Amino acid sequence: MIFRTTSFRTTPARTTRPALRKVRSTAALRPLRHRLDPAAVEEIPLRTSDGVLLGLTRVGTGHSDRPAVLVLHGHTASADMFLLPETRNLVDVLLDEGYEPWLLDWRGSCRLPYNETGRRYTYDDVALYDIPEAVCRIRQRIGDRPLFVIAHCIGSLSLSLSLTAGLVPGLAGVVSQGVFLTPKLAGRTSLRISVMGELLKSRIDYIPVDFRKVGLWSKYTPLFALASRGASCPDPTCQILHNSAWGSGASLFVHENLSEATHERLAELLGPAPLWILPHLRRIELARSVVRWHDTDHRYRALPPNALDAAGRIDTPVLLLAGSENGLWQDSQKLCHEVLAHRQPQLDVRYTEIPGYGHLDTFLGRGAALDVYGHILDFLGERR
Ligand SMILES: [Zn+2]
Repeated sequence: MIFRTTSFRTTPARTTRPALRKVRSTAALRPLRHRLDPAAVEEIPLRTSDGVLLGLTRVGTGHSDRPAVLVLHGHTASADMFLLPETRNLVDVLLDEGYEPWLLDWRGSCRLPYNETGRRYTYDDVALYDIPEAVCRIRQRIGDRPLFVIAHCIGSLSLSLSLTAGLVPGLAGVVSQGVFLTPKLAGRTSLRISVMGELLKSRIDYIPVDFRKVGLWSKYTPLFALASRGASCPDPTCQILHNSAWGSGASLFVHENLSEATHERLAELLGPAPLWILPHLRRIELARSVVRWHDTDHRYRALPPNALDAAGRIDTPVLLLAGSENGLWQDSQKLCHEVLAHRQPQLDVRYTEIPGYGHLDTFLGRGAALDVYGHILDFLGERR
């Protein structure tokens, strides 16, 4: 048995255990890694109305008439995933095709400290504060120019909640990668999320990925040991991501699709996963829809209880993208396309599957510019 249960004595002295985390109210953004002209990269301070400092980056082009494209990373990743210096990345492609890229580091970014320290949050907060307020800030700058959004994984799932709440109206188009309105995890992943949430919630706050920081023997050793079973790659960080997706048992990418340089940087590109997010993720997964976490807190009443039920409010064309080998969200995007075609036939939604790709490699893959981005550019190009 990997996880031993501990029996806590019920003496009064033991019932008040110390807090697991130090709460920080300030955030310093880790610098972006890129090969752009530093003068073109504008970091824009963005503090949400609930007081959280985020990262918003505009890549300037010297042109004031270009359509803008906001890109949203997945949970524990960051804007760095669209700027890989070692490959032809999404920002390169957008610049070459005449767009103005904007990158948001929402509160789940590993460039920010909130997954390890700081106030806890749910995806409701991302949908209610981070995404709409970033869109608002961008619109203040771009005026009437078209604004597209390209969103990956939880960035896309949270966007679906913002969209169906009517909080980001009038987008020119949305590209969703991996998952959108109908999240569906593999059976064993789903089970492990429940088990991990229950067994570990009183012991640890987050699952780390960088074995070098964690050390050989720690409370995390069993998780790394579990992830290493049957792994063909000797790198423990790769094992916990490729083999086990932070211990969930899912696979985040097709291994051979990553360049050696990207493989070396995995611990920088994907940060620790907080365990306190699991109850919301679990509720979403059980509902097979993006559902609001806060049912009674009036601050969240703008969000629909169930985003799929409110899909009729989507007012923009949507391209659903997924790798054929997505080891985390399976065929969620295909399912989403089928469900929307049936329930909301008036919506402009299309589905494109990328053969031979998993989940993260659709953006981190060395061949993504050839195999993936063309589909995105075709979609944007028809609507700019
Ligand atoms: Zn590896």
